[in-house]
Amino acid sequence: MSKICLCLTAKTISRNLELIEKYRKYIDMAELRVDCLEPDENFYIRHFPQQAGIPVILTIRRKQDGGFFLSGEGSRVALLSRGLAFAEADKRFNFAYVDLEEDLEVPGLEEAVRTFGTRIIRSYHNFDGIGKITEKVKALRRIGDEIAKVAVMPQNLNDVLAIYRSSRETREMEKIVVGMGTYGLNTRVLSEKLGSFLSYTSETEDPELPSSAPGQINPVELVEKYRFRDINAATNIYGVVGFPLTTTFSPKIYNTVFSREKIDAVYIPFPARNLNYFLELAEDLNIMGAAVTIPYKEEIIEHLSSVSNSVQVAGACNTIKTPGKLTRSLPGETVSRVWNGTNTDTLGFTESLLRFLDRKNLRSQKITIIGAGGAARAVVSEIFRLKGKCLILNRNAVRARELAMNYGYAWGGLDSQALDSMERYSDIIIQTTPVGNSPDTDDDPFELYHFNGHETVMDLIYNPPQTVFLKRAMAAGCRVLNGMDMLLRQAQHQYEYILGRDFPEQLIPALLGSLQK
Ligand code: NAP
Repeated sequence: MSKICLCLTAKTISRNLELIEKYRKYIDMAELRVDCLEPDENFYIRHFPQQAGIPVILTIRRKQDGGFFLSGEGSRVALLSRGLAFAEADKRFNFAYVDLEEDLEVPGLEEAVRTFGTRIIRSYHNFDGIGKITEKVKALRRIGDEIAKVAVMPQNLNDVLAIYRSSRETREMEKIVVGMGTYGLNTRVLSEKLGSFLSYTSETEDPELPSSAPGQINPVELVEKYRFRDINAATNIYGVVGFPLTTTFSPKIYNTVFSREKIDAVYIPFPARNLNYFLELAEDLNIMGAAVTIPYKEEIIEHLSSVSNSVQVAGACNTIKTPGKLTRSLPGETVSRVWNGTNTDTLGFTESLLRFLDRKNLRSQKITIIGAGGAARAVVSEIFRLKGKCLILNRNAVRARELAMNYGYAWGGLDSQALDSMERYSDIIIQTTPVGNSPDTDDDPFELYHFNGHETVMDLIYNPPQTVFLKRAMAAGCRVLNGMDMLLRQAQHQYEYILGRDFPEQLIPALLGSLQK
């Protein structure tokens, strides 16, 4: 099983030991980053493995490899020697591993290390891309029992795909493979599937600590949110694709349900600048289903073999699943994945709003919609079905018109001219743009509008729980609803569509509680 390693980047030995205690039940080993220690602390590194009580990697990372060590190679080798000197017969008291970069030549030290049972991790770091990763893994090891380590920076999901392919080509080798940065999170979670000896984690709650590598997450997150300990070769993969995907609660929802229901599956965010790259990766990793979010809810439709009525009506799709591989009989023809799609924003929205209003439909309701994107399409199609009347306002008024024309609704830009029309459409106001979403929580999609207090106001955003827009509505005396209830309801339908089983309703209160935290 792939192990979890905690990277220790504190200035002192005692703080590093505190971090091991904090995460002990989540980690298998630690990496002491001597390059982060204050100089006086270097005297005490030799006894660190004994104090830690778990296997420890000794690492002194140079600046060029992403570390903080600025002195010359002579002093680095001297410091490495200090950490590895006077090996004890009880190997638990020695460093279990030492990380030596590919270009470091210290045969004497390496021989001594091997003699006393410390294993060498031969490492290569690339912060600009992935390079020729397979060749690199194959060339790194100098003698048989070294562990090759490649830590690379994928620039997109196509690079991530190359990492998985390379891992299969070097299947028989003991190695550590890390995809760093925005696109690499899945490689950290799927370390077992990658055949990586370990996955690195770090303390992320202490802003004083320097980061050990871009994209590392906390051991608790890796274990509890991403089910690291349960992932094996057969585990089914699900996920969410979008960009930038900085806020997504779906992994928390799905992975909690998978854990409680003992389903052998994991759910991972896949930030993607290119939807095709995600679909190619999905095929390679055998991803069985996914949520689709900004900006791909419309673009995904052309990739689907069949769509539900809700996608046809809304013109947007937020959920895809595969029934299995499309097998073609002609030799040499590419085998490609079939995707079917549905839209669960529609039902999630309707159930949430009608329950809030305690109504069965929206007959006689005059409603303003702010935005004309994917979510707005789902919302408007439902309002039409529920017999409401809409005014659609969008920054780009042409898009508002296109959407409104499908239903014979009124439309306009987000400008002062819209204010008069809004007076006639103010029973309910529904905010569907991402404006005000975390991290840009000070933004307001329509500052010109002043609430009169009689409107019911729904904002589809759920993080933060109250956007500036909702706060203004509340201050004016309006009834307000955020997007959290809709999120959970649409996730419930999405889960049922993708997994083909009932969503465990009894988990909803607990999920709601933990998401609101
Ligand atoms: P989208 O398809 O990218 O649509 C974005 C819409 O927002 C467009 O109408 C766009 O106007 C408008 N917009 C973007 N930036 C703007 C700005 N700075 N000022 C004014 N308008 C701006 O996104 P989406 O999929 O519809 O999602 C929108 C929001 O709904 C997101 O925050 C998402 O998290 C939320 N959502 C919540 C749920 C839930 O379950 N609670 C479900 C779905 C979506 P232009 O046309 O002028 O570019």
